[in-house]
Amino acid sequence: MNPLQPTRREFLESLGALGAGAAWLASRKLGAEEKPAEERLAIEGGQPVRKHQLGTGPYGPQYYDDEEKRELIEVIDSRNPFRHAGGKVAQFEREYAKYLGAKYVIGVTSGTTALYAAMAALEIGPGDEVICPAWNWYADYDAIVLCGALPVFAEIDDSLGIDPEDLERRITPRTKAIIVAHLQGGICDMDRIMAIARKHKIRVLEDLAQCVGGKYKGKHVGTIGDIGINSFQLSKTITSGEGGAVITNDPVLYERAFRFHDVGGIDRCFNETIGRGVLSSFASCNFRMSELTAAVLRAQLRKLDTICNNLRANARKVKEGIQDLPGIKFRKTGCPEGDLGYVVMIDMGNRQRRDQFLRALRAEGISAIGPAGSVFLPADARVEQKRTIHPDWPSFKSQWGQQIQYGAAAFPRTADMLNRFGGPVIGPKYTDDDLADIIKAVRKVYLAMHKA
Ligand SMILES: *Cc1c(COP(=O)(O)O)cnc(C)c1O
Repeated sequence: MNPLQPTRREFLESLGALGAGAAWLASRKLGAEEKPAEERLAIEGGQPVRKHQLGTGPYGPQYYDDEEKRELIEVIDSRNPFRHAGGKVAQFEREYAKYLGAKYVIGVTSGTTALYAAMAALEIGPGDEVICPAWNWYADYDAIVLCGALPVFAEIDDSLGIDPEDLERRITPRTKAIIVAHLQGGICDMDRIMAIARKHKIRVLEDLAQCVGGKYKGKHVGTIGDIGINSFQLSKTITSGEGGAVITNDPVLYERAFRFHDVGGIDRCFNETIGRGVLSSFASCNFRMSELTAAVLRAQLRKLDTICNNLRANARKVKEGIQDLPGIKFRKTGCPEGDLGYVVMIDMGNRQRRDQFLRALRAEGISAIGPAGSVFLPADARVEQKRTIHPDWPSFKSQWGQQIQYGAAAFPRTADMLNRFGGPVIGPKYTDDDLADIIKAVRKVYLAMHKA
């Protein structure tokens, strides 16, 4: 064991002894000069905590090695890069389903196409309403519109996920499904959301594109709602550049999503998983995953726990090193143990203070961001103006579709939440020295701002 690497107990004890991460920092820097917290901020011309900016690239590629290469070479050597001829997509689907504790997984070309397949599985179409958090990726809104349904936004709360109370208020007799998105590694309050959905007999689609590997009360996100989707695009937890998956325990949803993603048909893999189909084919698409994509994903899947455990442990150490700061408030999570901690998000109260906090942290050499990777959808021009690909598109033609008002002003709580939060980015390969620097920088900046 590395003598410089504290055990978790030592780490906690060092914090407990003096009630501050500073104690751990002092014990680690072995003779290095410790500067008091009231030191001048780098943004005001002081010495930065780090000379070189600490940051993390996309997580998955940091773990690319011979395993991904071996899997890819097997596909090349087999001369069968096509799902129906090879076996890697089918293998990946089984392995990922087992990993998640789900019955069925379908590998597709992206998170976006996974959403379309899920909407088809849920039989969503013209006349239906789908509730979606006002803070989410474009694809979720687009999928609702492209199947002809009406998107209804709900506010987010201080978890930056959908606010269950507001969600319930937006339910009408036309509501068919709710999209729950676990964004930036955070976990939504699934018990409350599922209770509301069951009460009103509405289906739940979980979007875990930004939370692959995340858990809620011991269960993987994506297996709690009726159907889940995720992405393997570059910025997600594991990646094949592009790619996606549909997850479900429901055999009928599985068959509908499967048929939709493969030109209406079912293949040998489907038969081996579930037996014969019970449905007829219907107008569909081709969103089949390539064997080359599945090859990379099989290798990445074996590293998913390492990436998630490292992220969680690193985020926890940073939190423990700053949790004694006066009045500090973190982003709420539906499950502290299952959260992935891409970013240690702190509520800075308002936009001006948050932006000042982030600028000052960056000047100290620490990557820091606010809510990112999603969009304040009702405020986006294409949403606000209800633009579609055809003037007769059904989504906004109904009485309700014409009445519904989007725009930022209709979602003040979401706007407020998006302005308040920000904090240091967490990398799965950050060392204890890196984490010590983050703690030091956050303490320095936060305390300076607290005094001001
Ligand atoms: C990335 C993302 C998607 C779409 O995935 P793609 O693979 O990029 O199509 C959907 N939802 C959320 C929340 C995402 O972050």
